[in-house]
Amino acid sequence: MLKLIILGPPGAGKGTQAIKLAKTYRIPHISTGDILRDNINRGTNLGEQASGFIKRGELVPDNLITKIILEKLDGEECNLGYILDGFPRTIWQAKKLDDYFRRIKQNSAFVINIKVDDNILVDRITGRRTCQKCGATYHIINLPPKFENKCNICRGNLVQRPDDKINVIVNRLEVFKLQIKKLEEFYSISPNYQIFDGSEEPNNLTKKIAKYLCCSE
Ligand code: AMP
Repeated sequence: MLKLIILGPPGAGKGTQAIKLAKTYRIPHISTGDILRDNINRGTNLGEQASGFIKRGELVPDNLITKIILEKLDGEECNLGYILDGFPRTIWQAKKLDDYFRRIKQNSAFVINIKVDDNILVDRITGRRTCQKCGATYHIINLPPKFENKCNICRGNLVQRPDDKINVIVNRLEVFKLQIKKLEEFYSISPNYQIFDGSEEPNNLTKKIAKYLCCSE
């Protein structure tokens, strides 16, 4: 069973790596951002509660997101493992996740921390375009779609996420920096913690992460 937590700032490529690794290991990719956006699009109660926080680039309340994730991890689809992308994001969430592992008598997860310089992040996020239909992501310069503003996979429309606009990004990066120090302190004492350079070409980075996982398991 492979349980993997991917830490990193917005734009570090957590989602890209999680998708590739989930395919390789045939385990679900659980993205808290995707779950919340899906709930907003469907107009659910959770979506309504989360939407204001996301628009402002703030974190949604710890207990709200933690309950959803822990329930998901109990599901059958997570029996063989999973990749957590965007969770935990605070020390409170990390401790609750650790309590959960202890409660169900499981080992802790592998934790990889993807680091990238701020100027690269801002470039990546402002250029990011996301398919409204399937969630696939592109970049206007680094990874343009074949047809303008259309998803290569499902031909859905590509849009800029409202929280990928520059005024919100600045706040998202600040929120990230406030939390990451404590998370690093918490996880860095674990033997299953490793830092990776997120400025690497994505396929090379996936290979390095996969190598690390297979050598450490
Ligand atoms: P992401 O797509 O991972 O960048 O997440 C988008 C937004 O969803 C974040 O800016 C937060 O507002 C919210 N969010 C995602 N994951 C979490 C989490 N673990 N805790 C609190 N808020 C979250």
